[in-house]
Amino acid sequence: MNLTKLIFSPIDPFKVVSVDNQADFVNIYVQSKQRMCRCPDCLSPSKKLHSYYLRKFRDFPTFGKSCNIYLQSRKFRCLKTDCKRSIFTERFDDHFEPCKRRTKRLDEKLSIPALEIGGKPAERICSTLSMPVSDSTLLRLIHKAPLPPLGHLKAVGIDDWAYKKRDRYGSILVNLDTEKVIDLLPDREEKTLTSWLQGQPAIEVITRDRYGKYMRAATKGAPQALQVTDRWHLLKNLGEAVKRVMVREYTRLSRVVAPKTVDEPLVIPKDFPKRKKLAATNGVIKQRFDEMKKLHAKGLSNSAIAKSLGMHRSTIRKYLSTDILMRKSYAERGMIEAYFEYIKERMKAAPNMHLKTLWTELKQKGYPGAYSTLSESLAYYDIRVGKKARQTKLPQHAGSFFKPSTAAMAFLAPESKISGTQK
Ligand SMILES: [Zn+2]
Repeated sequence: MNLTKLIFSPIDPFKVVSVDNQADFVNIYVQSKQRMCRCPDCLSPSKKLHSYYLRKFRDFPTFGKSCNIYLQSRKFRCLKTDCKRSIFTERFDDHFEPCKRRTKRLDEKLSIPALEIGGKPAERICSTLSMPVSDSTLLRLIHKAPLPPLGHLKAVGIDDWAYKKRDRYGSILVNLDTEKVIDLLPDREEKTLTSWLQGQPAIEVITRDRYGKYMRAATKGAPQALQVTDRWHLLKNLGEAVKRVMVREYTRLSRVVAPKTVDEPLVIPKDFPKRKKLAATNGVIKQRFDEMKKLHAKGLSNSAIAKSLGMHRSTIRKYLSTDILMRKSYAERGMIEAYFEYIKERMKAAPNMHLKTLWTELKQKGYPGAYSTLSESLAYYDIRVGKKARQTKLPQHAGSFFKPSTAAMAFLAPESKISGTQK
């Protein structure tokens, strides 16, 4: 059988000279069939041979063995006197590119697993397929791979993406017809996006957020395009607006929605967590909340309060907009509230009871919290157990039956997903 026809296609200018079949690899010796060669500079043909040299390439595995191709390459003299290149090498850009150690067809195949599964996994797979290659080589192939053509671009989505969150951002561009990322810009500057958009005169629709630089870039770079807010940002903004209203009107809303009282035992959620730290966290937050209110009552500005408490201005603004401090999480409310009834009874029956005794009793009833958690939770509700008990008033509503963020979600979620109380 003709080996040349087996290894190359009939139009390829190569001839297989010999094959060296070893235990775990195959060496194939190849030489060129071309009679003459063109100078890469002046393109004039030359038959005048200068010298031979041997190049080695990795190729597809042969019968499960890794395979090397040894190409006897030639150097020619350029015959044109005014050409600045006097000697040039024979070129075979379809198979063997200059300065490469792998055949072009092998590189093309290797870049497929590299792009699909990444450097390290592709390295492992390729070595089992007798194509040993390092992960860094595969990553180099990914970097060198040409980008797919943009095609006809009609609708583009623009948003930012983070190299490192709160530190450095770039811009991401998505083709909204194919839902594929088409480009990443190194920053989110007006100039960069403007020049990118100017290269795409066919764009008809641009979706973006309300970032000013994107707005100006879209107006300058693609004046023909219609600018719209994308669905995600619309929903996000709506959710945030509803949440702000909910936080502001929290006190009034909690009067409208029938609050759960201690007489009406709370249902412990199924996924009841055993999170000990939450009550402690709530204790700290309550303390800071009170400090914040005190400073505010003294007439301090938000930034002055922020400075003195070491908190952010927006946090201060958020907390000052509400009268009642909401408990941190929806899930932990079952921790103590579920036992209010029992605590009330016990405090009536034994006003001088020690907190430790109460905790032991609650533990037997299934209370999951630690002693310190119980103590902090009771402090949160201003319930004093034992000798210190001056008032045994339990809160009529704990302000934990609804959370602004949950309520805001109820406005956005489909009706089928909203529970009875939320409705
Ligand atoms: Zn030349």
